[in-house]
Amino acid sequence: MWAVPVPVARIPIRFTYAYLIRSRGQAVLIDPGAGSPEGAAALTEALDAIGIPVRSLTGIVVTHYHFDHWEAADELAQQSGAWIAIGADEQGWVDDLTDDDVSLETATRRFQAHGVPMPRAVEFASVEDYRYTRDHVRPSLLLRHGDLLPLEGASLRALSTPGHSPGHVCIHDEQRGMLFSGDHILPGITPHIALNPFGSPDPLDQYLRSLEVVEQLGNVEVMPAHEYRFSGLGLRTQALRDDVARRVHEVSSVLEHSPRATAWEVASALTWSRSWSQFGVEAQRMAVVETAAFIAHVRQRR
Ligand SMILES: [Zn+2]
Repeated sequence: MWAVPVPVARIPIRFTYAYLIRSRGQAVLIDPGAGSPEGAAALTEALDAIGIPVRSLTGIVVTHYHFDHWEAADELAQQSGAWIAIGADEQGWVDDLTDDDVSLETATRRFQAHGVPMPRAVEFASVEDYRYTRDHVRPSLLLRHGDLLPLEGASLRALSTPGHSPGHVCIHDEQRGMLFSGDHILPGITPHIALNPFGSPDPLDQYLRSLEVVEQLGNVEVMPAHEYRFSGLGLRTQALRDDVARRVHEVSSVLEHSPRATAWEVASALTWSRSWSQFGVEAQRMAVVETAAFIAHVRQRR
């Protein structure tokens, strides 16, 4: 098994780990990363060095539809004939998208409903990439909870772990005692949980339940898509729960004073690692949809 860091240009996370697993002459790649020329070059070079060139890939697993995980999959599958697998629930919400859902006007109205003023709402709508996602990957294999990947001699089981995205999957390597956790569990970053317009009305609740799914695996080594591999899954999931609980508390306090506050208003009142006014468009958009997820969670519990 190899971890290949694939550079990502557009976001500060720097790289995605593509995990290559070989078994009986076949090879599966988990999360091929972003499809930039730099990413493709890094991946091709690494696979050549390992001795499993792109053309010999058997399969590609995409843990979820965020560009830094899936974007390179199309090109690699074309070069190799490899199957592409993704969570059935993840493909489900993308398949359901209509032209109207992904139009600039509809997206702008969604952000206005979160209280985002004009012209910021249009700017947020322009950086959403649902259309781009919808028109790309065509997976040939849809994974349901408990499915084994078709890799001979291996025991790689898909676990449905929605939250960070509506149909995120982790892959449990039962032989090695490893969990390929995508963005569900990262060692230092609390995953971004957004109120996705096409997903659950309470994605934070989904996320907390998905923590239980991986906690049941016991003492596995965690291979995340970003940062670094680590052990001590139970300690990490507890820290993530604490982090979520702190944020829920903070959002609840704001809503107690202003029960009808919009996500835009609540977000600007929360503490962030930088001051709210220094946020760029994309960071501010993410902050608003994340805040919306916390507001939905708090309101569901009232
Ligand atoms: Zn990611």
